[in-house]
Amino acid sequence: MPKKAKKRSLSSKSAMGIRMKNIRLAETVEEKSARQENDRSRQEDSRRNEDAEKHSARCEKQKTYAAKKRKIETPDMKQTRQENDRSRQEHSRQNEDAGKHSARCEKQKTYEAKKRKKETPDVKQTRQENDRIRQRHTRQNEDAEQHAVRCEKQKVYEAEKRKYETPDAKHIRQEKDRSRQKHSRQNEDAEKHSARCKKQKTYQAKKRKNETPDAKQVRHEKDSSAKARKIEEESEEAKSQRLKQERQVKATRRTKQLKTVFAKCPSLGKMSDIDTFEENKLPIGTVTHQLPSLYEANKICTKCKAYRWEQERKGFCCEDGKIDLPHETEMPPELKELYEDSDFLNHIRSYNNSVAMASIGCKEEILPGFNPTFKIHGKVFHRIGSLHTVKGRARNY
Ligand SMILES: [Zn+2]
Repeated sequence: MPKKAKKRSLSSKSAMGIRMKNIRLAETVEEKSARQENDRSRQEDSRRNEDAEKHSARCEKQKTYAAKKRKIETPDMKQTRQENDRSRQEHSRQNEDAGKHSARCEKQKTYEAKKRKKETPDVKQTRQENDRIRQRHTRQNEDAEQHAVRCEKQKVYEAEKRKYETPDAKHIRQEKDRSRQKHSRQNEDAEKHSARCKKQKTYQAKKRKNETPDAKQVRHEKDSSAKARKIEEESEEAKSQRLKQERQVKATRRTKQLKTVFAKCPSLGKMSDIDTFEENKLPIGTVTHQLPSLYEANKICTKCKAYRWEQERKGFCCEDGKIDLPHETEMPPELKELYEDSDFLNHIRSYNNSVAMASIGCKEEILPGFNPTFKIHGKVFHRIGSLHTVKGRARNY
């Protein structure tokens, strides 16, 4: 019985097929488009009314059919099909509204997540490699506007994402960022390095131009505490490396300053070999300038009446009269009053400290036993605070 039914249906189908073919060959363009419109709406209707079971059965059937068809398709056919698929997809995406767009994206996300869960490490690596290539390709081809739009979008996305991240997640992200940055910096060539530094410098300068005094103070404090933390954690080797670098930077700066000074005032003497300096040796030692004792100062400038050392040149004090310094005047009455006040003179050091707006900083060496004097080791610093402090903090120096 089923055999018979099958046979009859096949023959009737093929007979109907020939009839349909003939009808379609005879139809006009208008008729064809009307028919297709009809077909589409009928299909849409029937799909809208199908239940989950029917839907999945239809999809399954279509999948099998498509797979069978693809098996026998030639490379040309395949290419044509893919072209068609792409253009259909593009068309449908251009026409989708926001709701449909988000629904599609959501669906695709779920699908991708499901797929990724099952993928092997090899497959994952291949996918990531492919993604990277595709991304690189798109980015290389984007124009300035597209680039700006992408960056802006990513910025918003990142900001939104960071709003909700836990401290742990933040820490992991920062660690990851740091290691990626380190890797990329290790691999950059000289050109890329200098381009990056230049860009960063411009960016920093721009940012600092707009910062408020409060923000500046906060930045300074943050910087110095970060530096202190880094120094605390550094190894002996890192420390000696850092100190060496700091000396180098200082020596370079000093050389630059000296060069400027010597270029402006030739009467200071001659400075040689200032382009090369050794570590720990500041170039000041190469200046040929001998100072005899005070009592040998026997030259008096005819222009400004300054006492000059034996070997000091004519223009040393006032550039031989080019610089006209004001003559000595009477002490201002306010100062004179203080100068003659015994109480002021007794506490002059305290007064001086108060108005210096700076305090001394040094490494003090504590000696055993009673020691009324104190010993300084290394350098002496002036500690000064900023004129305006952060809100809620006392001014200090
Ligand atoms: Zn002079």
